[in-house]
Amino acid sequence: MTTAPNPTSIKPGVFRTHATRLPRLRMKALVRDGNQVSVQLMPRPELTDARSVVVRVTVAGLCRTDLYAADGKIKTIDPVILGHEFSGVIDEIGAEVDNVKVGQRVTVNPNLPCLNCQYCRANAFDTCQNSTFLGVDRCGCFAEFICVPAGTILPLPDTISDLAAAYTEPVAASLAVLKAGFRREEKGMIYGNNRFSQLMEQILRAYDFNNITVFDTITDRGLLDDSSFDYVIETMLTNESLSDMVRAIRPGGKMVLKSRQYDPIDLNMTSLLKKEPVMHIVNYGSFSEAIELLTTGKINVESLVDGIYDLEDYKQVFATARNKESLKPFFSTGANR
Ligand SMILES: [Zn+2]
Ligand SMILES: [Zn+2]
Repeated sequence: MTTAPNPTSIKPGVFRTHATRLPRLRMKALVRDGNQVSVQLMPRPELTDARSVVVRVTVAGLCRTDLYAADGKIKTIDPVILGHEFSGVIDEIGAEVDNVKVGQRVTVNPNLPCLNCQYCRANAFDTCQNSTFLGVDRCGCFAEFICVPAGTILPLPDTISDLAAAYTEPVAASLAVLKAGFRREEKGMIYGNNRFSQLMEQILRAYDFNNITVFDTITDRGLLDDSSFDYVIETMLTNESLSDMVRAIRPGGKMVLKSRQYDPIDLNMTSLLKKEPVMHIVNYGSFSEAIELLTTGKINVESLVDGIYDLEDYKQVFATARNKESLKPFFSTGANR
């Protein structure tokens, strides 16, 4: 026989706590958990401090870094929400945030400086050695919401499209090649024929670098034997592409390494010595300049977009992206649509 609980045995304080607590809001997210990637219901992120903001994600682009993270080639926190390229709308701001307003369209720089090291204290945030990355070291944007420090937010002009704005990070990464300091009249090669090289070509032409060849790795192999290029920019760093680049450049030429390759690369010193090349390994250019290029139409990324997919389609989208890198796929949870 069961007996009814005695209501007087329930402590009033405990009872009150349970009665008034709101259920924590949940959201859909693409998560790597252990070795598994899946769409999960996760707690909706809340403001972590007075200088953080919560953004409702509109569209989020998939890039190689996300695939490396999904495959475990890059060590991530566990579990982690994947994704680092997106545009969205500010949903909530911390008490000390004054650079953005709720309802404003934004994108972010996903490379978050620590703000404490010697480089950050000297305002050289790009060279922070303790930086963290969205979708790797903290939760990313393949979700309905994301919480980020307000300092990483870049407000968007009204005239830029959501998709173009979500392309800001790859454009800023491509702009980094200009740090190599090659000149407009010099003869340049963009190694590889893919969406990275097409974007790179558009960017170089936007800055009047017109003496450039986009090298197709299958049809243009004859170009490698001239040793005539003043600079070569790679778009997929492998042992093969590196050795081809060494063949292509003139003695003393510049090799610009920009792709985020996480596998180690061999340096064949015999061929390198004969060329005495200068290697420029670059990370990011200006994010504001990237937004400017995308807004003014000096570059057009619409032709480099594969489509917009639901998070639930991730298996198919990942498989296509691994096989073919001609176009960039995007995810949307429909949160702003
Ligand atoms: Zn990216
Ligand atoms: Zn730092």
